[in-house]
Amino acid sequence: MSGEIEDRLAAISNRGLYRRTRCVSGPQGPRVLLDGKPVLLLCSNNYLGLADHPRVREAAAEAAMRYGAGAGASRLVSGNMRIHRRLEEQLADFKGSDACLLFGSGYLANTGVVSTLAREGDVVFSDALNHASIVDGCRLARAETFVYRHLDMDHLEWGLRQAEGRGSLIVTDGVFSMDGDVAPLEEIVELAGRYDARVMVDEAHGTGVLGTTGRGTVAAAGLDGEVDLIVGTLGKALGSYGAYVCCDQPMARYLTNTARTLIFSTALPPPAVAAAMAALELLREQPRRVEKLQRNAAALRAALAERGVPVREGETPIVPLIVGDPGRAVAACERALARGVFAQAIRPPTVPPGSSRLRLAVMAPHTKSELREAAEVLAAAVPAGPPTSGAPEQDQRESDAAPRRVFDGLRDAA
Ligand SMILES: *Cc1c(COP(=O)(O)O)cnc(C)c1O
Repeated sequence: MSGEIEDRLAAISNRGLYRRTRCVSGPQGPRVLLDGKPVLLLCSNNYLGLADHPRVREAAAEAAMRYGAGAGASRLVSGNMRIHRRLEEQLADFKGSDACLLFGSGYLANTGVVSTLAREGDVVFSDALNHASIVDGCRLARAETFVYRHLDMDHLEWGLRQAEGRGSLIVTDGVFSMDGDVAPLEEIVELAGRYDARVMVDEAHGTGVLGTTGRGTVAAAGLDGEVDLIVGTLGKALGSYGAYVCCDQPMARYLTNTARTLIFSTALPPPAVAAAMAALELLREQPRRVEKLQRNAAALRAALAERGVPVREGETPIVPLIVGDPGRAVAACERALARGVFAQAIRPPTVPPGSSRLRLAVMAPHTKSELREAAEVLAAAVPAGPPTSGAPEQDQRESDAAPRRVFDGLRDAA
């Protein structure tokens, strides 16, 4: 076996897909020290700048002193504390749902919820560009998975018809994490009603970001109370760590009894819970932060377009600059870094083959002049012209597109 892992690494490297971690010193602000070098940070999901807000830090510090650093056990043993309950109540109130359940992370929430809801004989319907944690939830479920083409409601409906009543769950990102586009929730809810399926929306990049008060894609679409499960993370706009599922009371009790990622994992640490609570309070007190984020996103798009960089219209702070080939994406990232702008290159399997990109993420605390500076640097760093790639364009992700039991109909339709 000796050298076998090196061989596997070499194979990854040969495909231009080798990854390594970089290191940030200090908090996640608009400017950071990256591997010792000052850069403008343009790929953090700390959208509202709350991860390093003084009130959020103080709340975490105070909770550590009052309740300790860790919860000590899972929620179902001794790890369920008053502070968990309080945050659940506040999130349910914010989202307008009956109940809310905290999970260890968005990854754990998605894998836990999808795998326990979709049972043997059921079919789960999942957008081709859903987050990897949803894909993995489908893989863990005993159900079959129908992957519908990104945002394609005709394909989804075709699949629902083929499933002949076995369609149990439609699951989608609200805001797609690597593209920044938004799911057609109204149509999804309508189809779900017609075909008697549940709807689950992942608001990881919607909460704190979309709608005038940052309540997310479901609220922005006027669908309060019409989506069965809203999942969100505390790790992005809410500046902390952990996740939540908003649903009705019976669903919350069902998840408490069956979601293995909730049952078999330690409860969130009190400082993370308190930090998220303080961030949620700030979001509700100061919705202007959300407006600033939205204005900044528009300003960056405009500044890039002015410099001839093709950007898709959009209302979210996620702006993909698609390059195509993974090696070219990494080279573009390094060129921008050399001029002090950090926008990480994103490659397969995070995005489909042939669509490697720089994924820009705007934050509310960025200044207009920082965004102009970033646009200038990126216009020079990203190759002009249409994306080029060694790999064929595909609709789905290489490794993520093939959950274990794909509904046969998908192949016929594709
Ligand atoms: C980041 C992300 C997750 C995972 O959330 P974590 O709390 O970071 O584990 C889930 N879904 C989407 C769409 C995401 O972007």
